[in-house]
Amino acid sequence: MQDGLIVKALSGFYYVQPEGGGDVVACRARGLFKKQGVSPLVGDRVRFEAKDDGSGEGTVIELMPRSTELVRPPIANCDTALIVFAVARPELNRTLLDKFLVLAELAGLESILCLTKADLLDGAGEDAAALRGRIEELRKTYEAIGYRVFFTSARAGTGADELRVALQGRIAVVAGQSGVGKSSLLNRLAPGLSLETNEISEKLGRGKHTTRHVELFRVGESGLLADTPGFSSLEFPEEIGPEDVAAAFPEFVRLAEGCKFRGCLHLKEPGCRVRQAVENGEADAERYDHYAAFATEVRERKRRY
Ligand code: GDP
Ligand code: ZN
Repeated sequence: MQDGLIVKALSGFYYVQPEGGGDVVACRARGLFKKQGVSPLVGDRVRFEAKDDGSGEGTVIELMPRSTELVRPPIANCDTALIVFAVARPELNRTLLDKFLVLAELAGLESILCLTKADLLDGAGEDAAALRGRIEELRKTYEAIGYRVFFTSARAGTGADELRVALQGRIAVVAGQSGVGKSSLLNRLAPGLSLETNEISEKLGRGKHTTRHVELFRVGESGLLADTPGFSSLEFPEEIGPEDVAAAFPEFVRLAEGCKFRGCLHLKEPGCRVRQAVENGEADAERYDHYAAFATEVRERKRRY
Protein backbone atom coordinates (compact mmCIF):
# COMPACT_ATOMS: atom_id res chain seq x y z
CA MET A 1 0.00 0.00 0.00
CA GLN A 2 1.12 3.57 -0.77
CA ASP A 3 0.12 7.10 0.18
CA GLY A 4 -0.94 9.52 -2.50
CA LEU A 5 -3.13 12.42 -3.51
CA ILE A 6 -6.02 12.42 -5.98
CA VAL A 7 -5.19 15.02 -8.63
CA LYS A 8 -7.98 14.27 -11.11
CA ALA A 9 -11.35 12.53 -11.21
CA LEU A 10 -12.84 11.50 -14.54
CA SER A 11 -15.27 8.78 -15.67
CA GLY A 12 -15.06 6.71 -12.52
CA PHE A 13 -11.28 6.85 -12.30
CA TYR A 14 -9.31 8.65 -9.61
CA TYR A 15 -5.85 9.66 -10.71
CA VAL A 16 -3.52 9.33 -7.76
CA GLN A 17 -0.15 11.03 -7.54
CA PRO A 18 2.05 8.83 -5.32
CA GLU A 19 3.67 10.62 -2.42
CA GLY A 20 7.35 11.08 -3.08
CA GLY A 21 6.93 11.09 -6.85
CA GLY A 22 6.37 8.59 -9.63
CA ASP A 23 3.74 8.23 -12.35
CA VAL A 24 0.09 8.92 -11.68
CA VAL A 25 -1.94 5.75 -11.04
CA ALA A 26 -5.49 5.46 -12.43
CA CYS A 27 -7.51 4.02 -9.57
CA ARG A 28 -11.01 2.72 -9.08
CA ALA A 29 -12.53 3.33 -5.67
CA ARG A 30 -12.92 0.34 -3.43
CA GLY A 31 -16.52 -0.97 -3.48
CA LEU A 32 -16.88 -0.28 0.21
CA PHE A 33 -16.93 3.49 -0.35
CA LYS A 34 -20.15 3.27 -2.33
CA LYS A 35 -21.80 1.21 0.41
CA GLN A 36 -20.74 3.80 2.98
CA GLY A 37 -22.02 6.62 0.80
CA VAL A 38 -18.66 8.37 0.54
CA SER A 39 -16.98 9.31 -2.68
CA PRO A 40 -13.37 10.26 -3.09
CA LEU A 41 -12.69 13.86 -4.16
CA VAL A 42 -9.89 15.54 -6.01
CA GLY A 43 -7.54 16.74 -3.27
CA ASP A 44 -8.14 13.71 -1.06
CA ARG A 45 -5.09 12.19 0.57
CA VAL A 46 -5.48 8.46 0.17
CA ARG A 47 -3.92 5.07 0.66
CA PHE A 48 -3.96 3.08 -2.54
CA GLU A 49 -2.72 -0.15 -4.05
CA ALA A 50 -1.18 -0.22 -7.52
CA LYS A 51 -1.61 -3.41 -9.58
CA ASP A 52 1.72 -5.08 -10.28
CA ASP A 53 0.82 -5.93 -13.89
CA GLY A 54 2.30 -2.74 -15.33
CA SER A 55 -1.13 -1.41 -16.32
CA GLY A 56 -0.73 1.79 -14.28
CA GLU A 57 -4.04 1.06 -12.58
CA GLY A 58 -4.94 0.51 -8.98
CA THR A 59 -7.49 0.83 -6.20
CA VAL A 60 -8.12 3.56 -3.65
CA ILE A 61 -8.30 1.75 -0.31
CA GLU A 62 -8.69 4.48 2.30
CA LEU A 63 -9.42 8.20 2.51
CA MET A 64 -7.63 10.35 5.08
CA PRO A 65 -9.69 12.89 7.04
CA ARG A 66 -10.34 16.14 5.14
CA SER A 67 -9.46 19.60 6.44
CA THR A 68 -11.93 21.36 4.11
CA GLU A 69 -14.46 20.29 1.52
CA LEU A 70 -15.58 22.59 -1.27
CA VAL A 71 -18.80 21.80 -3.08
CA ARG A 72 -18.38 23.83 -6.23
CA PRO A 73 -15.89 22.84 -7.53
CA PRO A 74 -15.73 19.58 -5.53
CA ILE A 75 -12.26 19.62 -3.95
CA ALA A 76 -11.01 18.26 -0.63
CA ASN A 77 -8.27 19.83 1.49
CA CYS A 78 -8.20 23.09 -0.42
CA ASP A 79 -6.62 25.70 1.84
CA THR A 80 -6.18 28.76 -0.35
CA ALA A 81 -8.34 31.01 -2.51
CA LEU A 82 -6.34 32.84 -5.14
CA ILE A 83 -8.63 35.80 -5.74
CA VAL A 84 -7.94 37.41 -9.08
CA PHE A 85 -8.94 40.89 -10.20
CA ALA A 86 -7.56 43.04 -12.99
CA VAL A 87 -6.31 46.50 -11.95
CA ALA A 88 -8.59 47.69 -14.78
CA ARG A 89 -10.43 46.32 -17.86
CA PRO A 90 -12.76 45.27 -16.39
CA GLU A 91 -12.91 47.92 -13.67
CA LEU A 92 -12.13 46.43 -10.27
CA ASN A 93 -15.41 45.71 -8.49
CA ARG A 94 -14.80 46.06 -4.76
CA THR A 95 -18.19 44.65 -3.75
CA LEU A 96 -17.35 41.48 -5.62
CA LEU A 97 -13.85 41.43 -4.15
CA ASP A 98 -15.22 41.58 -0.60
CA LYS A 99 -17.80 38.93 -1.46
CA PHE A 100 -15.10 36.55 -2.66
CA LEU A 101 -13.10 37.23 0.50
CA VAL A 102 -16.12 36.43 2.68
CA LEU A 103 -16.98 33.27 0.73
CA ALA A 104 -13.38 32.10 1.04
CA GLU A 105 -13.34 32.86 4.77
CA LEU A 106 -16.62 30.95 5.24
CA ALA A 107 -15.17 27.96 3.37
CA GLY A 108 -12.14 27.96 5.69
CA LEU A 109 -9.69 29.14 3.03
CA GLU A 110 -6.91 31.67 3.33
CA SER A 111 -7.13 34.31 0.61
CA ILE A 112 -4.30 35.58 -1.54
CA LEU A 113 -5.16 38.56 -3.69
CA CYS A 114 -3.71 38.77 -7.18
CA LEU A 115 -4.10 41.94 -9.23
CA THR A 116 -3.51 41.20 -12.92
CA LYS A 117 -2.84 43.42 -15.95
CA ALA A 118 -0.37 45.42 -13.85
CA ASP A 119 1.10 46.71 -17.15
CA LEU A 120 -1.92 49.04 -17.30
CA LEU A 121 -0.45 50.93 -14.33
CA ASP A 122 2.66 51.88 -16.24
CA GLY A 123 1.15 54.26 -18.76
CA ALA A 124 1.89 57.97 -18.93
CA GLY A 125 -0.92 60.49 -18.61
CA GLU A 126 -3.56 61.40 -16.09
CA ASP A 127 -5.71 58.30 -16.36
CA ALA A 128 -2.83 55.94 -15.59
CA ALA A 129 -1.71 58.16 -12.72
CA ALA A 130 -5.21 58.19 -11.23
CA LEU A 131 -5.44 54.42 -11.61
CA ARG A 132 -2.06 54.01 -9.89
CA GLY A 133 -3.31 56.12 -6.99
CA ARG A 134 -6.55 54.14 -6.59
CA ILE A 135 -4.82 50.76 -6.79
CA GLU A 136 -2.13 51.80 -4.31
CA GLU A 137 -4.85 52.83 -1.82
CA LEU A 138 -6.55 49.50 -2.32
CA ARG A 139 -3.32 47.59 -1.79
CA LYS A 140 -2.72 49.46 1.48
CA THR A 141 -6.28 48.83 2.67
CA TYR A 142 -6.14 45.07 2.10
CA GLU A 143 -2.59 44.61 3.35
CA ALA A 144 -3.51 46.43 6.55
CA ILE A 145 -6.28 43.86 7.08
CA GLY A 146 -3.72 41.08 6.69
CA TYR A 147 -4.21 39.89 3.11
CA ARG A 148 -1.25 39.41 0.84
CA VAL A 149 -1.47 41.31 -2.43
CA PHE A 150 0.47 40.35 -5.57
CA PHE A 151 0.71 42.17 -8.90
CA THR A 152 1.13 40.24 -12.14
CA SER A 153 1.17 41.01 -15.83
CA ALA A 154 0.94 38.33 -18.48
CA ARG A 155 1.73 40.98 -21.06
CA ALA A 156 4.91 42.28 -19.37
CA GLY A 157 5.79 38.85 -17.98
CA THR A 158 6.05 40.02 -14.37
CA GLY A 159 4.95 38.81 -10.96
CA ALA A 160 4.31 35.11 -11.60
CA ASP A 161 7.48 33.92 -9.84
CA GLU A 162 6.62 35.64 -6.56
CA LEU A 163 3.08 34.28 -6.68
CA ARG A 164 4.34 30.77 -7.44
CA VAL A 165 6.50 30.91 -4.31
CA ALA A 166 3.48 31.98 -2.23
CA LEU A 167 1.55 28.93 -3.46
CA GLN A 168 4.13 26.33 -2.41
CA GLY A 169 2.72 23.63 -0.14
CA ARG A 170 -0.86 24.75 -0.78
CA ILE A 171 -3.93 23.46 -2.59
CA ALA A 172 -5.49 26.51 -4.18
CA VAL A 173 -8.58 27.37 -6.13
CA VAL A 174 -8.79 30.45 -8.35
CA ALA A 175 -11.70 32.88 -8.11
CA GLY A 176 -12.44 35.86 -10.31
CA GLN A 177 -14.88 37.10 -12.92
CA SER A 178 -14.36 36.28 -16.54
CA GLY A 179 -11.99 38.52 -18.49
CA VAL A 180 -9.70 39.41 -15.58
CA GLY A 181 -6.91 37.25 -16.97
CA LYS A 182 -7.24 34.03 -14.96
CA SER A 183 -6.39 31.70 -17.84
CA SER A 184 -3.40 33.82 -18.87
CA LEU A 185 -2.22 33.78 -15.25
CA LEU A 186 -2.72 30.03 -14.72
CA ASN A 187 -0.84 29.24 -17.90
CA ARG A 188 2.13 31.16 -16.54
CA LEU A 189 1.93 29.62 -13.06
CA ALA A 190 1.65 26.07 -14.39
CA PRO A 191 3.19 26.00 -17.87
CA GLY A 192 1.92 22.47 -18.60
CA LEU A 193 -1.65 23.63 -18.33
CA SER A 194 -2.30 25.49 -21.64
CA LEU A 195 -5.77 26.82 -20.92
CA GLU A 196 -7.47 28.60 -23.75
CA THR A 197 -7.58 32.36 -23.17
CA ASN A 198 -10.30 34.66 -24.48
CA GLU A 199 -8.01 35.97 -27.20
CA ILE A 200 -7.49 32.50 -28.59
CA SER A 201 -11.14 31.50 -28.35
CA GLU A 202 -12.12 34.73 -30.09
CA LYS A 203 -9.68 33.96 -32.91
CA LEU A 204 -11.16 30.51 -33.27
CA GLY A 205 -14.64 32.01 -33.19
CA ARG A 206 -15.95 30.04 -30.24
CA GLY A 207 -16.55 30.51 -26.54
CA LYS A 208 -13.91 29.38 -24.14
CA HIS A 209 -14.02 25.67 -23.54
CA THR A 210 -15.27 24.76 -20.13
CA THR A 211 -13.66 21.84 -18.38
CA ARG A 212 -16.20 19.43 -16.97
CA HIS A 213 -13.81 17.62 -14.67
CA VAL A 214 -11.67 18.98 -11.88
CA GLU A 215 -7.95 18.65 -12.01
CA LEU A 216 -5.13 19.85 -9.79
CA PHE A 217 -2.02 21.13 -11.51
CA ARG A 218 1.38 21.40 -10.01
CA VAL A 219 2.70 24.92 -9.47
CA GLY A 220 6.42 24.79 -8.83
CA GLU A 221 7.64 21.99 -6.57
CA SER A 222 4.80 21.65 -4.12
CA GLY A 223 1.87 23.90 -5.02
CA LEU A 224 -1.38 22.54 -6.43
CA LEU A 225 -3.90 24.65 -8.29
CA ALA A 226 -7.38 23.65 -9.50
CA ASP A 227 -8.08 24.49 -13.14
CA THR A 228 -11.78 25.08 -12.43
CA PRO A 229 -12.79 28.49 -11.04
CA GLY A 230 -13.97 28.48 -7.43
CA PHE A 231 -17.14 30.07 -6.06
CA SER A 232 -19.05 29.84 -9.32
CA SER A 233 -22.11 30.47 -7.18
CA LEU A 234 -21.90 33.85 -5.51
CA GLU A 235 -24.65 33.02 -3.03
CA PHE A 236 -23.85 32.86 0.66
CA PRO A 237 -24.28 29.32 2.00
CA GLU A 238 -27.82 28.80 3.32
CA GLU A 239 -26.86 27.90 6.86
CA ILE A 240 -24.90 31.05 7.67
CA GLY A 241 -26.15 33.98 9.75
CA PRO A 242 -25.04 37.62 10.07
CA GLU A 243 -22.66 36.69 12.90
CA ASP A 244 -20.79 34.46 10.43
CA VAL A 245 -20.50 37.38 8.01
CA ALA A 246 -19.13 39.55 10.85
CA ALA A 247 -16.57 36.83 11.64
CA ALA A 248 -15.40 36.92 8.01
CA PHE A 249 -14.12 40.52 8.27
CA PRO A 250 -10.86 40.09 10.21
CA GLU A 251 -10.36 43.79 10.94
CA PHE A 252 -13.85 44.06 12.47
CA VAL A 253 -13.29 40.92 14.53
CA ARG A 254 -10.23 42.61 16.05
CA LEU A 255 -12.15 45.82 16.80
CA ALA A 256 -15.24 43.99 18.14
CA GLU A 257 -13.51 43.43 21.48
CA GLY A 258 -14.14 47.12 22.09
CA CYS A 259 -17.87 46.95 21.32
CA LYS A 260 -20.18 47.52 24.28
CA PHE A 261 -22.24 44.39 23.63
CA ARG A 262 -20.92 40.94 23.11
CA GLY A 263 -22.24 39.56 19.81
CA CYS A 264 -22.51 43.11 18.46
CA LEU A 265 -23.30 43.00 14.74
CA HIS A 266 -22.03 46.58 14.25
CA LEU A 267 -25.28 47.65 12.59
CA LYS A 268 -27.43 49.78 14.93
CA GLU A 269 -26.10 48.79 18.35
CA PRO A 270 -24.97 51.60 20.68
CA GLY A 271 -21.34 51.72 21.81
CA CYS A 272 -20.11 49.98 18.68
CA ARG A 273 -16.33 50.21 18.32
CA VAL A 274 -16.43 49.14 14.65
CA ARG A 275 -18.75 51.97 13.61
CA GLN A 276 -16.66 54.41 15.63
CA ALA A 277 -13.52 53.22 13.81
CA VAL A 278 -15.23 53.69 10.45
CA GLU A 279 -16.37 57.19 11.38
CA ASN A 280 -12.94 58.36 12.47
CA GLY A 281 -11.18 56.76 9.51
CA GLU A 282 -9.37 53.94 11.34
CA ALA A 283 -11.30 51.33 9.35
CA ASP A 284 -12.22 51.39 5.67
CA ALA A 285 -15.73 52.75 5.06
CA GLU A 286 -16.27 50.81 1.85
CA ARG A 287 -15.45 47.52 3.56
CA TYR A 288 -17.94 48.46 6.24
CA ASP A 289 -20.67 49.25 3.68
CA HIS A 290 -20.15 45.87 2.06
CA TYR A 291 -20.21 44.17 5.44
CA ALA A 292 -23.49 45.88 6.36
CA ALA A 293 -25.07 44.95 3.01
CA PHE A 294 -24.00 41.29 3.24
CA ALA A 295 -25.03 40.94 6.90
CA THR A 296 -28.41 42.51 6.20
CA GLU A 297 -28.96 40.31 3.16
CA VAL A 298 -28.24 37.17 5.17
CA ARG A 299 -30.42 38.31 8.08
CA GLU A 300 -33.41 39.19 5.85
CA ARG A 301 -33.11 35.84 4.15
CA LYS A 302 -33.25 34.05 7.51
CA ARG A 303 -36.41 35.95 8.42
CA ARG A 304 -38.16 34.97 5.22
CA TYR A 305 -37.80 31.24 5.79
P1 GDP B 1 -10.12 34.94 -18.00
O1 GDP B 1 -11.45 35.09 -18.66
O2 GDP B 1 -10.16 35.49 -16.60
O3 GDP B 1 -9.57 33.55 -18.03
O4 GDP B 1 -9.11 35.92 -18.79
P2 GDP B 1 -8.09 35.63 -20.03
O5 GDP B 1 -6.81 35.10 -19.53
O6 GDP B 1 -8.79 34.88 -21.09
O7 GDP B 1 -7.82 37.16 -20.50
C1 GDP B 1 -8.88 38.05 -20.83
C2 GDP B 1 -8.36 39.18 -21.69
O8 GDP B 1 -7.44 39.97 -20.93
C3 GDP B 1 -7.59 38.70 -22.92
O9 GDP B 1 -7.95 39.52 -24.00
C4 GDP B 1 -6.14 38.90 -22.55
O10 GDP B 1 -5.33 39.19 -23.65
C5 GDP B 1 -6.20 40.08 -21.61
N1 GDP B 1 -5.10 39.99 -20.65
C6 GDP B 1 -4.73 38.91 -19.92
N2 GDP B 1 -3.64 39.18 -19.16
C7 GDP B 1 -3.31 40.47 -19.41
C8 GDP B 1 -2.26 41.34 -18.92
O11 GDP B 1 -1.41 40.98 -18.11
N3 GDP B 1 -2.26 42.62 -19.38
C9 GDP B 1 -3.19 43.08 -20.26
N4 GDP B 1 -3.12 44.36 -20.64
N5 GDP B 1 -4.18 42.29 -20.76
C10 GDP B 1 -4.23 40.99 -20.34
ZN1 ZN C 1 -19.96 46.58 17.12
